[in-house]
Amino acid sequence: MSVLEISGLRAGIAEREILKGIDLTVSSGEVHAVMGPNGSGKSTLAHVLMGRPGYEVRAGSARLDGQELLGLPTWRRAHAGLFLAMQYPVEVPGVSLEDALEETFVARGGGRGQVAELLQVEAERIGFRRQLLTRPLNVEFSGGEKKFNETLQLGVLRPRFAVLDEIDSGLDIDALRAVSRRIEAATSESDLGVLAITHYSRILHELRPDVVHVLSQGRIVVSGGPELAQELERTGYAAYGALEAPTEHAEAPPLLEDPFADPLA
Ligand code: ADP
Ligand code: MG
Repeated sequence: MSVLEISGLRAGIAEREILKGIDLTVSSGEVHAVMGPNGSGKSTLAHVLMGRPGYEVRAGSARLDGQELLGLPTWRRAHAGLFLAMQYPVEVPGVSLEDALEETFVARGGGRGQVAELLQVEAERIGFRRQLLTRPLNVEFSGGEKKFNETLQLGVLRPRFAVLDEIDSGLDIDALRAVSRRIEAATSESDLGVLAITHYSRILHELRPDVVHVLSQGRIVVSGGPELAQELERTGYAAYGALEAPTEHAEAPPLLEDPFADPLA
């Protein structure tokens, strides 16, 4: 069994602390949902875990089976078994999904020529159009197709832990079901541990969480079982210290030149 253990994590951008002490432990096979209003720090948590440039860690740790991830380059975190499905997947002109995954396999010490078949199987499994496999990665994909694409990568790469940053956004009901089922299957088939960031409890009907956390203003203010997500659906986040309107800066583009930046942001 593997464990992703985040403790006392304080991080932000140069001018401001955004995460003010996060403690969270996810074991393999578990699904933890992180819910919270706009601007509460959900994506920052995802970025800091994966090592996106432009964020600074002020205190705390994030360990995967005891190995400290913070401070490692992103590719080494990926090698350690961490995967991020981005809220805004990057468009990569000139590189197909198959090319990208082939190189990933080789970088991990695998052989060439294994990816094509795996991709076909995964695409079939979630009902992803085959034509999209050979097109440049995410270029001119719809919002939903990008999220399918992230799910496909997750299926092929089989990480130990996946951080899903609003994988539900842009998906219609059928697509949401297909994506959730694939992720849910990974938790039982390959013991994937999941940190599912979402605004809405809808995805949690399919991707049943073991634990639900509410992130508000950079802190986890309450944790509970699946019933907490249902309660939030009814009451909103007001009860959890999120009375202020979401900041107008939510999802502000990063200050630094950043290869992962959403070009449309
Ligand atoms: P969420 O994903 O919960 O909506 P974020 O983590 O994206 O929230 O953002 C939390 C707060 O931090 C917001 O006010 C946002 O504008 C700010 N923020 C996040 N990343 C950056 C950045 N790179 N540069 C400037 N501000 C940022
Ligand atoms: Mg976000």
